[in-house]
Amino acid sequence: MRRAGELLAFAETVKGFMPRDEGLALYETARALGERCPRGTWLEIGAWCGKSAVYLGAAAQRTSGLLYSLDHHHGSEENQEGWEHFDPSLVDPTDGRLNTLPTWQRTIAGAGLEATVIGLVGPSTVIAPHFSQPLDLVFIDGGHARDVAVADYEAWSPKVTVGGLLLIHDVFADPSDGGRAPYEIYLAALASEEFVDYSATGSLRVLRRVG
Ligand code: SAH
Ligand code: MG
Repeated sequence: MRRAGELLAFAETVKGFMPRDEGLALYETARALGERCPRGTWLEIGAWCGKSAVYLGAAAQRTSGLLYSLDHHHGSEENQEGWEHFDPSLVDPTDGRLNTLPTWQRTIAGAGLEATVIGLVGPSTVIAPHFSQPLDLVFIDGGHARDVAVADYEAWSPKVTVGGLLLIHDVFADPSDGGRAPYEIYLAALASEEFVDYSATGSLRVLRRVG
């Protein structure tokens, strides 16, 4: 097993959209949860190249948990050619489609987390109705279009156990900082009265399930 410090340094080298302070907050938050509730089952929506999976996976490994890392691996709207976050090196030359799965696999293998981070490859809302296991931690970082983010929230947040955590990335209250959909699902979680604020780091919001 690699030491946590080594894994966190490795996470910084992975391609992705997770600033260091937010990645460390993911790790610390998940580790504290895992110490309270060991052998947890956790899930992230939005795997990309595995950066957040290493932060969360490092915490899962330390606390004997398991992290499912879900993605169809063809990127969100903003990752496609002609959009802001397009990376031509991630295009599969055989079919011209974006494919982050090989990179994700190399990341998880390189981190030594293959027995802790398990990939679920497919569309989030197709998998969710067939996934009946309660989850101690759900991290929503998938598509940021309103309908996609709302669907992820509606499909996965009910699976969070009481006392468990719901994390949402890219929450920007000010529309000039970024899209509003993650902020809207964050507000919906608070309005449901099933979740309360737990912590915030940059655009990362952590909520705890109370009901
Ligand atoms: N957490 C990652 C970043 C995720 S980027 C990191 O730390 O780097 C968002 C990801 O969501 C993309 O890889 C995209 O393919 C995925 N995604 C978008 N909509 C999805 C859907 N409906 N089902 C599964 N994955 C989806
Ligand atoms: Mg994000």
